[in-house]
Amino acid sequence: MESNIDAKPPTLSINTFVEVLQTAFLFNPRNHPSPYAKSQWFQVNPKGKFNAQVTEYELGQLLPGPKYEFNLGVWYALLDSIASICAAQAFFSDIETGPISPPKYDLFGGTRRYQDYSILADKEALLYPDPPRFRAPLRQQLADQQIEIAVKFISLHEQAHVFAGHLLFVREAGSARLLEIDEADVSQHWGEARRSIELQADAIAFQTLFQSCAGNLDELRASEPRFFNIQSTVDWLTACLTATAVVCCLFEIADSVRTKEIHRRQHPTAKCRTLSLFQIFLTLLLPLVQTDDELHLALRRVLQNTAVIFQTLGVEPLEKEALNWLWRPSSATTDCGGVMELRQLQEVLQRLEPKLQQYQAQVQQRLRSRG
Ligand SMILES: [Zn+2]
Repeated sequence: MESNIDAKPPTLSINTFVEVLQTAFLFNPRNHPSPYAKSQWFQVNPKGKFNAQVTEYELGQLLPGPKYEFNLGVWYALLDSIASICAAQAFFSDIETGPISPPKYDLFGGTRRYQDYSILADKEALLYPDPPRFRAPLRQQLADQQIEIAVKFISLHEQAHVFAGHLLFVREAGSARLLEIDEADVSQHWGEARRSIELQADAIAFQTLFQSCAGNLDELRASEPRFFNIQSTVDWLTACLTATAVVCCLFEIADSVRTKEIHRRQHPTAKCRTLSLFQIFLTLLLPLVQTDDELHLALRRVLQNTAVIFQTLGVEPLEKEALNWLWRPSSATTDCGGVMELRQLQEVLQRLEPKLQQYQAQVQQRLRSRG
């Protein structure tokens, strides 16, 4: 049987990756020109581990505002994971797949797949792997599209940490950086706070991502051929959810090498993150569909796609009970991780409300003074 993949990842180049990261920033240099903006506000590091971070500078110090950093490992992990997912026939099963056989990746093999690509990043010749292709062109476009949305989500997630005032937590812990995959020792309380702020950053990023294109899909399709399958706002919403579910899984995989329970518990699980996003997905979906049939179709499609993502990446899947709960959002009695974490988020945010307001006022003032 002919393979659907030439043992290679999708084609989205490192240049496109960087471009997408840059344009996804709400406060990019074009909007906020500053002497520092071009060189210092944004950076891609030649490191192979899947990680991103944001650093907040103190008021009055050399650099105004935050600096965002992304490892090249983010790009590698997205190429690798999304190629694997798009090779599955059940993923967007209405889009042509062609013959399938298990993909093999000479380039991306190894025991720390999806979390550490240091072998590639250490060798300059391999920094830019030869662009590979799916044999079915529509799968190729689907893969590139999913990567692009995932990259946008990650950059918006980092910005959300800044705009929601999360760096306050980091300051209190005596640091200026917020790493996605943090290797520092943490207390139980810090772990709780971290899980909550991650969920909030996900929620802000997901809504921003959805709203960024929801109103001008025609323009999107015209400028980007790889967005071929986005025919409606529901399609766009679905594509956003699947791409962000991949990112949630990659966060969990990158975090899973930690041996101590307290370290691993620093972040919400992929299941919890995705379920939290499902709630937003539902809220956004309901006004977009006219009939129950449309609603069921949209939900079935997104649930099937998410199941493929979790299965392909070997991450603990969404529980059946949790999915049932989604059909009855008013019942908060189910002891599902998503519900628990959201309740916790509300409690923590309530507790920190005055501090957060104070911090947000500072951020606003700084943005105004940047002009
Ligand atoms: Zn985060």
